[in-house]
This record gives sequence, C-alpha cells and structure tokens, in this order.
Amino acid sequence: MDFKNYIRVIPDFPQPGISFKDITTLLSDGEKYREAINELKKLVADLKIDLIAGPEARGFVVGAPLAYALGVGFVPIRKSGKLPYETIEVGYDLEYGKDTLAMHSDAIKPGQNVLIADDLLATGGTISTSVNLVKQLGGNIVGTAFLIELSELNGREKLDGIDVFSLMTY
Ligand code: 5GP
Repeated sequence: MDFKNYIRVIPDFPQPGISFKDITTLLSDGEKYREAINELKKLVADLKIDLIAGPEARGFVVGAPLAYALGVGFVPIRKSGKLPYETIEVGYDLEYGKDTLAMHSDAIKPGQNVLIADDLLATGGTISTSVNLVKQLGGNIVGTAFLIELSELNGREKLDGIDVFSLMTY
C-alpha cells in the first residue's frame, strides 16, 4: 500500500539520534490521506466504537477524520489549560521533562466504547496517559489506532494487552 513513500524521515529531529517521521507529506496529498484513513477504518471495522478520543495535535488529524468516516463522535485530549470546561488531568514523563494531558470531565459516558487514535506510537507514554484518562471517565477502551508504530520502542508493552492497529511499522 506504499504509504511509507509518503512519509518524510528527518534525521536528528528534534534532537540528535532521533529519526522523525514527518506525516505532513502524507496529509498534504488528498487522495493518499483519504486512502490512509479508509485503511485505518478497515482495520477497526470489527470493533464496536461509540467515540474516538485523540491527543493533540496530530491525534486530531487522524482521529477526527476516522470518527467522521465511522459516523461516531470525536473527543479531544489536550494539554493542560486548553479545555474550557471542568477537566480531569494526568501527568506523564517525557524523554526530557514532564507534561499533562486533560479531558473534559463529561466527555465520555461510563460504559461507552472508545477507540484512541494518534499519528504515531513511540514509547507509548502519550497513548497510555490517554488510556488512563478515558478509563478514569469510565470509558471502555476497545483499541488504539495509529498511522505509524515504531516497534523498537515497545510502546505496546505499556498498553497491557489493549489492541494496537497501525498502518505502517518502522
Ligand atoms: P510516545 O508518547 O509514544 O513516546 O510518542 C508519541 C507521541 O509523540 C505522538 O503523539 C506523536 O505525535 C509524537 N511523536 C513522537 N515521535 C514522532 C515522530 O517521529 N513523528 C511524529 N509525527 N510524531 C512523533
């Protein structure tokens, strides 16, 4: 399906030793972007999904079109201080430093089936924090979906057996 031909790999970004997978070259090609979302839709076709949740910012460009294609709702997971209503927050460690993700406290009704979507799974810190938030709100995680999985970083191990669906693996 040659999606990798549409990913630009940038050596040493954002710091020496990191090989950054730039998805903007896929997003700017309308046909390929649509094909990627349609393929992700096929990968999750057997799941019963009520809502998709995605962490800012690149989780929005994957999660929102996938939600639209499936005809389900989309819930944003944001950095602390961005959401206007009452929130719950969870802090997590980055490679260098810390960050906090937040969701509206009423974003999910207990028992709703939630798929979490992002552009890329690396160490799994972002997605496991997202899982934590959705679980705190009573959501039932039915899986996680990504354009790209960096398998060497073992992000799956942080997900305690939650299903991972990805279009490309590096
Ligand atoms: P993790 O938390 O799994 O270590 O890192 C994944 C998060 O960092 C995702 O939200 C993703 O957007 C961002 N990220 C980390 N590395 C890359 C990369 O090489 N390319 C892109 N597009 N995003 C990355």
